[in-house]
Amino acid sequence: MVDRPHSEQFDDIYFAAENGLEESRYVFLEQNHLPEAWQDKSRFVICETGFGTGLNFLCAWTKFESTSTPSQQLHYYSFEKYPLSPQEIEKYLGHWSTEFSGRLEKLLSAYPLRVGGWHTFRVSSQVTLTLIFDDVNRALPELETQVDCWFLDGHAPAKNPDMWSETVFQNMGRLSHSGTRCATFTAAGLVKRGLESAGFEIAKAKGFGRKRDMIVGKFCRNTAHTAWSLTHPQKIAIIGGGIAGASLVHVLSPFISDITLFEKTELAAGGSGNIRGLCNPRIASLRGTDADFYSPAFALAYKTFSDISHHHDIGFQPCGSLHLITDDQKEKRFNGFIHQWGWHPHHARILNVADASHVAGTPLSHAALYLPDAAMVSPKLVTSHLARPAQLVLKDILSIEQSGTGWIVDNTYFESVILTGGVDVLKFFETSQLPLQKVRGQITHVKTSPAYNTLKTNLCYGGYSSIAIGGEAVIGSTFQHWMDTNTIRPEDNNDNLDKLKNVAPHLAEDLQVIGARASFRCSAKDRFPVIGRLKNAENLYISTAHGSHGIISSLMGAQYLATQILNTAPLLPASTQKALSPSRFLK
Ligand code: SAM
Repeated sequence: MVDRPHSEQFDDIYFAAENGLEESRYVFLEQNHLPEAWQDKSRFVICETGFGTGLNFLCAWTKFESTSTPSQQLHYYSFEKYPLSPQEIEKYLGHWSTEFSGRLEKLLSAYPLRVGGWHTFRVSSQVTLTLIFDDVNRALPELETQVDCWFLDGHAPAKNPDMWSETVFQNMGRLSHSGTRCATFTAAGLVKRGLESAGFEIAKAKGFGRKRDMIVGKFCRNTAHTAWSLTHPQKIAIIGGGIAGASLVHVLSPFISDITLFEKTELAAGGSGNIRGLCNPRIASLRGTDADFYSPAFALAYKTFSDISHHHDIGFQPCGSLHLITDDQKEKRFNGFIHQWGWHPHHARILNVADASHVAGTPLSHAALYLPDAAMVSPKLVTSHLARPAQLVLKDILSIEQSGTGWIVDNTYFESVILTGGVDVLKFFETSQLPLQKVRGQITHVKTSPAYNTLKTNLCYGGYSSIAIGGEAVIGSTFQHWMDTNTIRPEDNNDNLDKLKNVAPHLAEDLQVIGARASFRCSAKDRFPVIGRLKNAENLYISTAHGSHGIISSLMGAQYLATQILNTAPLLPASTQKALSPSRFLK
């Protein structure tokens, strides 16, 4: 008996349980002229409204790989406001799994945490999926790429008019070129009129099975198709061996064979060198650019660290974290986060004092925001693991010199250069004007007490305390933008312990300080990372100012920057890209 794939929100089915597979192939592939439409394209972009179970995606992916040449690429964007869990997807599609030859299993293992934002993963050497967990009306206007084909699969217009809005139709027109096609199972007049007003020539086609008709369309305004260039550099230099640089090595190495990583002392010598660090998003009360960057960054870091930790020790402990609600401001911020960021309750919830204490394994006196997937990891081990594919050169690079379209670094020619050395980027002429500052942070290593050892999750309260491992924990951190020394200061250890004492005195008792480490984070004037191509300096890129959240933002930064370097389709909303760009500081 096949489970009926039914949506609670819309009281409607995702697809017909019996013949949904044939219907998907008929409506979205056949009626969109696939595979003919991608035959001569080096890259093909499909955009779907309503990911649901991913059935349409699996059909398109399977068809693409059996009808294209290995060098052709498919980028599939899909919007989903109410993501299903991987278990639900498996329940609904499992009986068709042989039709997809292992692809369903690959999709399930790559499937992101159900947290709002744009999640991109390469499911194969030919196919990339950007799964956008957001309302299509909010996210589609943020997409900037040419679309070759549209799969319109929201629920029936009568049940879900939001999915068939003027915003959706007008943005479809904005992103299409002459030749772009669309198809949908519905034949509703509202859809026909909306598509026509956006520039599509509409025809009715025979509907699937017993359905009378459906709609197909072809964009008829004269907008030329821009051919993608598949060329990208083969020899690049990354200057700065912290987690930002190492993440770029990790993301770029499948595409670029020759990567040199320059570092002045040793890998992870600065802010990335702590033996333990917490993976948390930077929490804001509104869903703005912060959310659009840190939310998928958190999911990407979680997935990457958890995958690596199956084979390598990077100190990954998905122990969760409790963010104590110590004042009204935090209460407002965390409540805003819960209601706006689009995180499924499995991944974020507010706990009262009793429940927070239960989760913590020790009595607490504050309610808390609980993020069960927050984790601890060793940024030092992560950095050295991610940097492995690069050739490491220990040398202090003081300048770079433009040569043709590339750059000379250490007497060697590179096609592209990426600056990732925190505030050290200021020593290069090209980036010397960026408003960056150093922020000193000292963490305290302690031998824990029996009371402390009961703590089961990390605690955050302005400062933070990690769970104990082997009778030791890390208590952090100071935040001193005025101080320029990495000498250990005993008063900073006291500060760290006092902050814990203020919120949980029994945990702060009998801790024995056994060490400390001070390093510098780099922060921009507006406290947002600086990631992107530099204007007026060809083939020069930057990823810096990751502040206190470099553990999660470095990977997302690398994934995003890679789209600029490799010339591939965008994977962040346009406004987030703008907010990250180094050009934002230009007068
Ligand atoms: N294509 C899907 C598949 O292969 O399983 C079936 C899609 S189902 C008919 C429609 C989907 O649209 C649902 O998963 C629903 O949650 C989603 N949805 C509805 N309104 C939305 C909106 N405003 N923004 C984004 N997604 C929405």
